Amino acid sequence: MSGHASPGSFTGTSPVWLKTPDDVNALVPELWSATAEKTDGVLTVGGVAVPDLVANVNTPAYVLDEADFRERARAFRDAFTGYDVYYAGKAFLCTEVARWVQQEGLSLDVCSDGELSVALRAEVDPARIGYHGNNKTPMELRRAIALGVGRIIIDSFDEVERIASIAAETGMTARVMVRVTAGVEAHTHEYIATAHEDQKFGFSISSGDAFEAVRRLLAAPNVDLRGLHSHIGSQIFDSSGFEVAARRVLALQARIRDELSTELPELDLGGGFGIAYTTQDDPSTPKALAEELTAIVEHECRGFGLAVPHLSIEPGRAIVGPSMCTVYTVGTVKEVALDGGVSRTYVSVDGGMSDNIRTALYDADYSATLAGRTSSAGPVLGRVVGKHCEAGDIVVKHEFLPGDIAPGDLIAVPGTGAYGRSMASNYNHALRPPVVAVRDGESRVLVRRETEADLFATDLG
Ligand SMILES: *Cc1c(COP(=O)(O)O)cnc(C)c1O
Repeated sequence: MSGHASPGSFTGTSPVWLKTPDDVNALVPELWSATAEKTDGVLTVGGVAVPDLVANVNTPAYVLDEADFRERARAFRDAFTGYDVYYAGKAFLCTEVARWVQQEGLSLDVCSDGELSVALRAEVDPARIGYHGNNKTPMELRRAIALGVGRIIIDSFDEVERIASIAAETGMTARVMVRVTAGVEAHTHEYIATAHEDQKFGFSISSGDAFEAVRRLLAAPNVDLRGLHSHIGSQIFDSSGFEVAARRVLALQARIRDELSTELPELDLGGGFGIAYTTQDDPSTPKALAEELTAIVEHECRGFGLAVPHLSIEPGRAIVGPSMCTVYTVGTVKEVALDGGVSRTYVSVDGGMSDNIRTALYDADYSATLAGRTSSAGPVLGRVVGKHCEAGDIVVKHEFLPGDIAPGDLIAVPGTGAYGRSMASNYNHALRPPVVAVRDGESRVLVRRETEADLFATDLG
């Protein structure tokens, strides 16, 4: 996989990776969906001029580039030949997107009853659905088994018991995988290999719990254990974490063969492939990822004398992340003096942590650009903030913006497709923004903006 500038180093008030742009109006193509372009300062996505689009739907709005989404889905499907590719619906899911996933030949991961309902509403074949979660209720499990969900990823001994008893009682087959923790955690730039796994997901390999879960599931009637499942983190750029995890997971696969006389037929490597939020990120292509991951698994299998299992992956962010941008209207502009005679321009927009929590939650980086006009002013160091009652309500921590940015300007933030709308909240009774798909000059609202009536639907007065 590819590189990432070392994080956390600053010169004065801005991080070292943030370079003063030659032209503050220009898009950085790597950060945008494939059809995004600017003409005379006007941002166009899917052939639709963003100012025209927001004249209809208002701001804030998520703009989803349909062709780009489909192309990324296809790129994973085509690069990972012989694999099953599960789109991780938690990154972003609505009925129409679930249809696109199915049309492009991908399978779908869900991790809640609600996500499962969306998948069914889109008529996704249950056999192509994976069901995740560390606390699935007996009701959720019953529903999944009754539907014939393709695989339920088992996450605890309580769930082993629940699955075994539902399968025994109903006589229906439960197809399952066992989620294991390989003692590898990868987030953004680095991975950490630890001996103990201090987190809620999965069965530890090193403690023997993963082996014990497999042993019990193999002994349970009507339970079809397909294989092991390992997801090591998110926004990963470095394949060394996958390599360490694969070695540990396949060592377990070998132990299962030796002691339980079973070679599990499948293996899931999880998702977490990184995307470019800013110029510091340099993600791999699906093709390069496929080559690396396949080589790692083949190498480790050879070492243990194992047949290569049927493989699957679960990209979420890498498909939908770059396909969406968020468009906001600037409300206020404030120049704040900092130490050393410099200043930072705070640009407040009509959304914030209610439509993008990632900056507050993960200290995530984003970029932004003016979307409705050209500016001839020089760049100033800006920070795009929301309208919520939190000082940490930041959308874009560091970006050069035109010095004449003013109330009424449109700005767009790329790369907001994953964990944006799906993690959106009604904080401060904000109305969650719409998702508008654009393609070939046409726009279509897939998820409408919430209204006050939506808020009052649950507040019984
Ligand atoms: C979140 C998650 C994914 C998707 O992660 P991305 O970073 O969006 O690719 C895949 N598998 C599992 C088990 C997950 O929890």
